[in-house]
Amino acid sequence: MSAELPVSLSELPPDRRRAAILAWLRETDPQRLAALFAAADRVRRARVGDAVHLRGLVEISNICRCDCLYCGLRASNAALPRYRMTSEEILGCAAQAAALGYGTVVLQAGESEAFGVEEIAALVRRIKAETPLAVTLGLGERPPEDWAAWKAAGADRYLLRHETSDTALLRRLRPAHRYPSRIDALRVLLSLGYETGSGIMVGLPGQSYASIAEDIMLFADLDLDMIGVGPYIPHPATPLAGAASELGAEQAPATETMAIKGVALARLVCPQANIPATTAVATINRVDGRESALLAGANVVMPNLTPARYRRLYEIYPEKACDHETAEHGGEAIKARIRALGRAIGTGPGARVRR
Ligand code: SAM
Ligand code: SF4
Repeated sequence: MSAELPVSLSELPPDRRRAAILAWLRETDPQRLAALFAAADRVRRARVGDAVHLRGLVEISNICRCDCLYCGLRASNAALPRYRMTSEEILGCAAQAAALGYGTVVLQAGESEAFGVEEIAALVRRIKAETPLAVTLGLGERPPEDWAAWKAAGADRYLLRHETSDTALLRRLRPAHRYPSRIDALRVLLSLGYETGSGIMVGLPGQSYASIAEDIMLFADLDLDMIGVGPYIPHPATPLAGAASELGAEQAPATETMAIKGVALARLVCPQANIPATTAVATINRVDGRESALLAGANVVMPNLTPARYRRLYEIYPEKACDHETAEHGGEAIKARIRALGRAIGTGPGARVRR
């Protein structure tokens, strides 16, 4: 298979770029893929430097009103005990993020009213007053007024993956939605002035190579500040567990290589974005999945700071890479792995560079 040279991607006209991305997504030759990953690594170094920014992840509640067919937190999973961290517990985790030298705390949760708009605003205000941290929220789809209130309280960033640009597939896999589409929701976040992040799972049953090419085109069209790409990992208590592919040869696989291709292509089309080496990649390759992503364009890692008693209940998929680590131990292990790659640990909030 022939594919366009990777470095030219962001300069190609849209149709040729889409074709080149699709060719890369289908590429299987290890040498050519090594060249793709090396090109993404060069662009990463030239545009965002060698620092790897650490964002402390706090999973503040696993309560969710939604019934996404891929996720273990779905409302219909009655076997999962639900929790909601207290404000004091969350503030304690934020203080720990600062003490560990991280520049950002990420508050993530299922989509629910477990936290009222004012409660989150008050938390954001206190974190901003008491720590030097940037605050990222990932609380699912909320009304624009809530997002505006949290921005006014000082929140810096919002993460909302669009999951897949195949709208028919998304409606099937994610029945609850507040906005006409997640792209509309992302445009609201961008208009409110958030550093805005999106992303996708790769290998969802029914997801084609061509639809992933559209996802990567969309990353560039939206000029996203943050982009997460991770493999879909089946959860046994979901309707998708064991789902057979309907697409045959067009089905994109849920593999590490596919996710790393997504990371590399995201870096090539969005050279200045912050791109994490996701926990999902580290879960399907515990040996060096994170390293593979960091060597193919990623520049962010999100160590988990959720207290152990809650962490095992935030079971999006089974056996998350961080499930059995403490915050301190996991953080130190991640720092050591980053330094072993010859990369520096980022200091400060690590906002998206704009030049
Ligand atoms: N509830 C919010 C939302 O859905 O936007 C934020 C939390 S949600 C658990 C965070 C992300 O987990 C989702 O955007 C999705 O990409 C990812 N996720 C959910 N189920 C997954 C699975 N089975 N495998 C891999 N990633 C998954
Ligand atoms: Fe809820 Fe998010 Fe999981 Fe969907 S992906 S069920 S919204 S936690």
